[in-house]
Amino acid sequence: MEIRIGQGYDIHRLVPKRPLILGGVAIPHDKGLLGHSDADALCHAIADALLGALALGDIGHFFPPEDPQWDGADSTQLLAATLQQVRSRGWELVNTDSSIVAERPKLRPHILPMRTRLAEVLAVPLDRVSIKARTNEGLDAVGQQAAIAVHSVVLLQRET
Ligand code: MG
Repeated sequence: MEIRIGQGYDIHRLVPKRPLILGGVAIPHDKGLLGHSDADALCHAIADALLGALALGDIGHFFPPEDPQWDGADSTQLLAATLQQVRSRGWELVNTDSSIVAERPKLRPHILPMRTRLAEVLAVPLDRVSIKARTNEGLDAVGQQAAIAVHSVVLLQRET
């Protein structure tokens, strides 16, 4: 059995007149994340962790922002396509763990819906998808509600 670890990070600006989508779930808030796709920083961080585990580069490489195909794209599709890259090389996702850093809104009520949605997208049981949320204690851009950041790790395994 071979195993690999991968790490991913993403940050998007929080701006008015955008929906807030994290982990494929629309979260009620007066601001949303700015980006070329739906700016789902959680999906992006997990996708980067998946690619990182296999040293395949990053999602900017696989899904170039200049490609109109990804304009306003649903990032769960981008995450599923990334997982396909992993599986096509014989690897399976063991588990993933993420920390969302956001001052507002309070994300606690949305954790289970996000985990449920991502377990579905990643085709693993719910207990293999962990999402935690915390504030930045009012510090820096994230603490001042100008952005939301996400840190993710994944573990992959392959039968040898
Ligand atoms: Mg991103």
